[in-house]
Amino acid sequence: MAPQPRPDLLACHECDALYPHRHPAPGDIQRCRRCGATLARGHWLRPDGQLALTVGALLVLAIASGSEIVTLELQGIHSVATLFEAIVATWTTGEHAVAVIALATAFCFPLAVVVLRLWVLLPVAFGRPVRAFVPAMRALRWVLRWSMVEVFMLGVLIAVVRSAGVTQVVVGPGLFAYVALAVLLAAIEACDMDELWRLGEGHRA
Ligand SMILES: [Zn+2]
Repeated sequence: MAPQPRPDLLACHECDALYPHRHPAPGDIQRCRRCGATLARGHWLRPDGQLALTVGALLVLAIASGSEIVTLELQGIHSVATLFEAIVATWTTGEHAVAVIALATAFCFPLAVVVLRLWVLLPVAFGRPVRAFVPAMRALRWVLRWSMVEVFMLGVLIAVVRSAGVTQVVVGPGLFAYVALAVLLAAIEACDMDELWRLGEGHRA
């Protein structure tokens, strides 16, 4: 017979010690008494707050990917580049790997992070069952490793600084939207996955 899950118990990720599952107050941290690892963290952000931030991140991602990131001016030639135009331009110069990595880390993975969180948070907010809860959570854990908006932003900033001596570079609204997206994603990811597991567990389809 398969072992039954015990939501009343919490296992340490480091040493497998078992503790009663209590939910720390906002700002509190529950640590393992044997090895000191963090077991659970109390967050100020409630589920509806997480949902609001995640919807905000989706809107900001739409703005970031649809607006121009930089405008280049060289000898009267005015060139505006959105994320997708920059990726297509990179692809046509033969840098296929760079184009694919930029598309994945700056658009596909952040979108997947936001959509998978909404997949769990929306039904929870409306008191509906969460379909395919466990596969969605496993996929979320995987895509979180590859969502690198801040690395993409750093790359754009380095490119802007390096181009500044050659051409006139004007930073566009898309880059500011990416800054806002990086802040929103950091705030959302600060709410650890255990909290999301706990929320979704109670609403599994
Ligand atoms: Zn431990």
